Amino acid sequence: MTMYKGMRFVVSPVDSEHRGFYEHARQHRLMVQKCSDCGLLRGAPGAGCPFCTSLKWTWQQVSGKGTIYSYQIVTQAIQPAFRDWVPYAIVLVDLDEQRRVPWRNAEEGEYISVRMVANLVKPNDPTKPEDQENVAIGKRVEVCFIDLDDKLALPQFRLSNEPPEHTPWRAPV
Ligand SMILES: [Zn+2]
Repeated sequence: MTMYKGMRFVVSPVDSEHRGFYEHARQHRLMVQKCSDCGLLRGAPGAGCPFCTSLKWTWQQVSGKGTIYSYQIVTQAIQPAFRDWVPYAIVLVDLDEQRRVPWRNAEEGEYISVRMVANLVKPNDPTKPEDQENVAIGKRVEVCFIDLDDKLALPQFRLSNEPPEHTPWRAPV
């Protein structure tokens, strides 16, 4: 039984998209799906392309580097396993691959990036959350992995040593 923070980590054996994602992570590779018809990458595993509805896709390895596009501070542990983490940040990461590809109403600024939601963890200890005052939009991050067992691992993100993409911004508190 695969466990994470005292909870069962369940991935259905028939859910090939999520299972593949976590199995590649165990090899410390961050993979996203690439649509075989429109060619766009998507950050959340799923059967169909959210852009053209095609069911054909392949895995593509990405660098795991990106920029914090947005974040949310979790102040109440809805899941008791995270009681010792609050307050902590959940980040929405713009991966470096497929940044701002024009789409549909491109003249009105509509574009596609490949984004992932993740925990932001300490650079030297992926089992601990990053201090919330260090979280800001525009800061650079990189993927790291928590090995759950010999088959599955959980991708997480940590702040990298690269300079921020723009002046970092935090919501006033
Ligand atoms: Zn597509």
